[in-house]
Amino acid sequence: MAPAASAAAFEAAFQAIPQGVVLLDEDRCIRWCNSMAAVHLSLDPSGDIGQPITNLVRDPALLAALSDDDAPKDFRIGSHKPEHTLLLQVRTFEEDQQLILTQDVTDADRMELMRRDFVAHVSHEIRTPLTVLAGFVETMQMLALEERERDRVLDLMRQQTVRMENLVADLLLLATLEGSPKPPISQWKPLEHLIRTAVADGQHLSAGHHTIAFDPVPPIELAVEEDEIASAIGNLVSNAVRYTPASGSIHLQTMWRSDGYLEIRVKDTGIGIERQHIPRLTQRFYRVDKSRSRGTGGTGLGLAIVKHAIGRHGGELLIQSTPGEGSVFTLTLPPARVRAIAPNVTGSSPT
Ligand code: ADP
Repeated sequence: MAPAASAAAFEAAFQAIPQGVVLLDEDRCIRWCNSMAAVHLSLDPSGDIGQPITNLVRDPALLAALSDDDAPKDFRIGSHKPEHTLLLQVRTFEEDQQLILTQDVTDADRMELMRRDFVAHVSHEIRTPLTVLAGFVETMQMLALEERERDRVLDLMRQQTVRMENLVADLLLLATLEGSPKPPISQWKPLEHLIRTAVADGQHLSAGHHTIAFDPVPPIELAVEEDEIASAIGNLVSNAVRYTPASGSIHLQTMWRSDGYLEIRVKDTGIGIERQHIPRLTQRFYRVDKSRSRGTGGTGLGLAIVKHAIGRHGGELLIQSTPGEGSVFTLTLPPARVRAIAPNVTGSSPT
């Protein structure tokens, strides 16, 4: 049989626990605390021994938990660190001894809030087209519409269905991006093909209302998940078309910088974005003008997808914009994922 653990072994084990632990005596004075509890509650693990905990942590919920049997034993308090929250759990042992477990739940709380917010947003985004669809179905059941009117209603119904399809596709793409490992540096894809495809898709979406052009693309290839980077560039071009009034222009530029980084820029002469919105544009469902976004088929997830896709490749999305003049969205990719196309350009390097 293994020998019983010594007091020293217990103390070492309690130190190793990722939570804070404070042992109190029957008068609620500190007998011992581990270093995590000292950090959480701002205690001095040697100097505060023997002090009443309620003198050092002045919180009514803690006082109640220690002195009132009916008070909640698991509760949150503000930390001495600004904007941090601690979960405290009070437990009784050996009849009149108590211990307090502490845990910093700031990140967990933030994640939970984001999750709830996200579910609320998704539900709202799906409910709106569903309500419209249900209304049209009812109209068609109640009224014998003339053929022209019937075609109009069916077309509106189709638009709402497409809206839901786009939303679900973007949600699935985001979930895939979040759940998969970083793309390996193994498969090399020519950059020019990605640029040409994005420009062709943009021209299709614009239907001749904009000038869409690209500068000569350097002969390089990228170690990327092609679908993801195509989707990132495609989203930027689609936004440029949707937020640029007719007869405006959209321009794609690529630059292999002397430090080895690649920049892919999508410039437009569109409506632009006020400075205060820029840091929030990549948040899911953040839109400057909701009706314009929806009216042009936006899901509010495009830039969140772009940021995730490029981030997974070690790159960044940079946004510059002037209201009324236009915007520049820049994707960067790190040197490890960019190289000259071999063999006809051997020796070529960034310029
Ligand atoms: P959406 O589907 O609404 O376009 P995005 O995530 O792609 O969602 O973009 C978020 C918001 O950023 C848009 O609603 C729009 O307000 C703004 N935006 C994106 N691209 C542009 C652009 N090229 N010009 C002006 N505003 C833009």
